[in-house]
Amino acid sequence: MINASYAGTSAPVELSVVVPAFNEEQGIAPFLELLFGVLRSCCTRFEVWVIDDGSRDGTWRELTVARARYAELRGLRFTRNFGKEAAMLAGLRCAAGQAVVVMDADGQHPPSLLPQMLEPWRAGRAQMIAAQKATRKSDNIASRLNARLFNGMMRVLTGLDLTAASDYRLLDRRVVDALLAFPEKVRFFRGMTAWTGFPVEYVSFDVAPRIAGTSHWSSAQLVKLAVTAVFAYTAKPLGMILRLGLIGMAVAVILLLQALYSWSTGIAVSGWTSLTVVVLFFGSANLFALGVLGIYLAQLFDEIKARPEYLVGDELR
Ligand code: UDP
Ligand code: MG
Repeated sequence: MINASYAGTSAPVELSVVVPAFNEEQGIAPFLELLFGVLRSCCTRFEVWVIDDGSRDGTWRELTVARARYAELRGLRFTRNFGKEAAMLAGLRCAAGQAVVVMDADGQHPPSLLPQMLEPWRAGRAQMIAAQKATRKSDNIASRLNARLFNGMMRVLTGLDLTAASDYRLLDRRVVDALLAFPEKVRFFRGMTAWTGFPVEYVSFDVAPRIAGTSHWSSAQLVKLAVTAVFAYTAKPLGMILRLGLIGMAVAVILLLQALYSWSTGIAVSGWTSLTVVVLFFGSANLFALGVLGIYLAQLFDEIKARPEYLVGDELR
């Protein structure tokens, strides 16, 4: 079945939907059914790019099957798992639409929100429409704790409040082009879109339960994402270790003065314990500071190697 509204015409695509998918074999077919239903009702010229992020299950097979049903479906398959950031980037590169929406493949970002996101963009009120999480009722305690940990770290270290933020957003072509012009390899989509400064409007949604399967994020992966996000986004930690060093020097000077005073009054310098504590504290502060520098260095290393963010194994057009 070929959709006459799209295939064979050279009319520009109004909306591209980018969907990163990793091991979503069970949920992808019902998700596409839902998505195409909504798209057909609110848009005439659209395309859907599903980026298979190196799934080890039958996600790609499901996509090739679905291709027969949906003429507007396109797909890329990575050679291995490169991560959601890489998948979103690949989608943005492929997307031809005047607007691009990024959404998850698991149904947690309800497609029914699309008309609401298109409206302010079509009216020209905003170049970005960000969907914000009103509730996380469907998430279990562990993933809520994970999210709190992540958001807390981000707030303290970057000043960005991401509590309600999600990757579900609509971007105008200008925003997409701006993002694609970023040469950097270490990416954090939510932070980078905020950085561009284009006018934003918000719509809120209740996070739906997953159609199938479980979340791919472990606590360790979230900590890794937080570290990437923080260090790719801000140089603040460098300033923080500088201040820590200054405070330490001030404390050391005070202790020195106190020791000199005790010596001058003839009281023997006691306090082996305090000495040990001070040595230990500044020893570890040194190591910590080196670690922070090391992370920046590692990111610089990644940027300078300039390897591709992902490799494509298969394509579905
Ligand atoms: N995803 C991906 N690559 C990965 C991990 C996840 O493309 O390495 C996709 C996944 O298929 C889903 C979206 O990113 O469409 C969000 O992932 P998930 O549902 O696991 O995260 P959560 O909803 O728990 O934040
Ligand atoms: Mg999810």
